[in-house]
Amino acid sequence: MTAGRLDGKACAADLEERLKERIANCNSQPHLAVIIVGDDPASHVYVRNKIRSCERLGIKSTHVELPADATQQQVAESIISMNDDSSLHGILIQSPLPKHMDEEALTDLIDPTKDVDGFHPSNLGRIVQGRLDGMIPCTPAGVMEMLRWGGVEMSGKKAVVIGRSFNVGMPQALLLAAKGADATVTIVHSRTADSKAECLAADIVIAAVGRPEMVTADWIKPGAVVVDVGINRVEDSSRDRGWRLAGDVHPDVAEIASLLSPVPGGVGPMTVAMLMANTVTSAESQHS
Ligand code: NAP
Repeated sequence: MTAGRLDGKACAADLEERLKERIANCNSQPHLAVIIVGDDPASHVYVRNKIRSCERLGIKSTHVELPADATQQQVAESIISMNDDSSLHGILIQSPLPKHMDEEALTDLIDPTKDVDGFHPSNLGRIVQGRLDGMIPCTPAGVMEMLRWGGVEMSGKKAVVIGRSFNVGMPQALLLAAKGADATVTIVHSRTADSKAECLAADIVIAAVGRPEMVTADWIKPGAVVVDVGINRVEDSSRDRGWRLAGDVHPDVAEIASLLSPVPGGVGPMTVAMLMANTVTSAESQHS
């Protein structure tokens, strides 16, 4: 079997078309602010991609850049003034922040209605309550959108989520188990006794581990659906730049799975598209 492609790029393009219509009907232009601290090159690439997406869709973007030695207070002051600015609908702090900053404390300061990353405790808590109309973290929300777009039946299926981070694995598990999706979910993490056996029992595997190509073909039940969230840089001397991007899933899984999301071109574009969707939702609700 050669797996079909769960094409995040195509799914994101479809979603963008629907967002353009919603933006055209908004009372005011949706406006996203991104705060970036320091000069981590990968973070700057991610921010550029988000700003490009805003431009493509007609979302206004404001980009606040602070030096690596900025204080926590400076970032806090930026957030507080953005909370008070009624022309702004979304606030995003690009992760990771420099080590001397408390990312959790800063996230807590963001007005939950403008928390387009969905990381504020009140937005994460709403997912536990089954209230899925708010700001849902972009990566797991993007995975759900992609599964539905790909026609994947989730109800009554066994799903395994590898990873339990607050930003991906844990909300992913809750979304799969939520009413409407109705999967039966197992969370696998670094202390799981037999991760391979858990995966082999699953109809749907979502890998969000951060370990290149850890999930190999012998972990996957024939015909299962596999979503690869991982983005890892691995050395590759055959490339001019000396590295390539690898997911958490080995490419050989394509011989076993019925559907597989590629890296790149899978979950990555969906994450950015869901950030745009959260910004539009915030603009709609602030002016309704
Ligand atoms: P994270 O915070 O480091 O969490 C990784 C999780 O994997 C942890 O829960 C950890 O378990 C678990 N884990 C580690 N080693 C394991 C093993 N050998 N067996 C089973 N579980 C293991 O990472 P994250 O932020 O969730 O990100 C995961 C991956 O997704 C990374 O590659 C990241 O770059 C990628 N990512 C992609 C997107 C996108 O847009 N495509 C967005 C976000 C993240 P413990 O809790 O026990 O330590």
